[in-house]
Amino acid sequence: MVDPLKQGAVIGILGGGQLGRMLAIAASRMGFKTHIFEPEKNPPASHVSDQLTTASYEDNNALSKFAKSVDVITFEFENIPADALNAVEAICDVLPARNALATSQDRLKEKEFLSELNLKVAPYANVETEKDLILAIKAVGFPSILKTRRFGYDGKGQYKINNAAELSVAWSELGKSPCVLEGLVNFTKEISVIGARSQNGEVVCYDPGENLHRDGILHTTSLPANITQSENIDAVLLTGKILNALNYVGVMGVELFVTKNGLLINEIAPRVHNSGHWTQNGCVIDQFEQHIRAVSGWPLGDGKRHSDILMTNLIGKEVLDVDKLSKDSNIGIHLYGKSEAKDGRKMGHINKIKN
Ligand code: AMP
Repeated sequence: MVDPLKQGAVIGILGGGQLGRMLAIAASRMGFKTHIFEPEKNPPASHVSDQLTTASYEDNNALSKFAKSVDVITFEFENIPADALNAVEAICDVLPARNALATSQDRLKEKEFLSELNLKVAPYANVETEKDLILAIKAVGFPSILKTRRFGYDGKGQYKINNAAELSVAWSELGKSPCVLEGLVNFTKEISVIGARSQNGEVVCYDPGENLHRDGILHTTSLPANITQSENIDAVLLTGKILNALNYVGVMGVELFVTKNGLLINEIAPRVHNSGHWTQNGCVIDQFEQHIRAVSGWPLGDGKRHSDILMTNLIGKEVLDVDKLSKDSNIGIHLYGKSEAKDGRKMGHINKIKN
């Protein structure tokens, strides 16, 4: 059994966006202090945390100082440079550990890892040259999606290929960088499971949520998902299998396609996840508290959902509807404190209780 962190211990968070902000709020509620490391000035998480380091991920000096000032380090995004992790890991534990990051940072490694666990993913092929792409198309067929192996998010770094004429356009558009080609999945629904694993190996999953995307960005997550009992249990069990295989500590999001032939895994995110925001108003212990519990050695909450919920992201100017939304007492409002409501920018979200 691990010793839980003591009250007043400091949790270091790499990344100061909205996920870092909500992690810091949860940590603070639990009696911990937080220290945010973020290259951008005035990040959302800094408004609610005890300490902020503004420095780049190349600044080893700043990273060492940060690591020395905290009791455990976690992160809110998966594209942390490997050298930055080396620098902090030499001084302080990073949870979840980097095997999960290494797997999810690279779409090819991720698919190989999942396939080795006998979990289903879309048909795929590795593409490192334009010639590979031509061979990959022969294996995967049209239509398909070319995705950069690294640094993709919210549908960025992707190109749908419908015919041979689009091959070299896709290759150039994605910067001729290493990619995977994925067969286009004919899914009926997209769902995700938010799962957690503690330092003692306890695993807890929240109910699967049903996700709708708009312009490649998550728009809503609805609970319960309109799926069968078997799909529900399959989704939860495969999430547990992934968490155990990685010896994972913390919260993870697993995005799935529901098809007529069962579930396919789209991707895993080794962090709290936008499609888990519903837990803030649908569960006693939400995904943020659950993550802080896991990394600080506390027991996990049971993940039980007490309400049916619709989570809606407020993107760009949609945040201006807050006055109206605030009049509905069945809506929990979560704003990120970002000053400019730019197009496509996640400004906040709401959770509406349905029942
Ligand atoms: P991703 O960044 O990989 O999560 O992809 C963003 C969105 O693109 C997904 O949520 C799906 O709606 C869609 N998408 C990604 N990959 C595929 C695929 N192989 N087949 C069909 N749709 C996909």
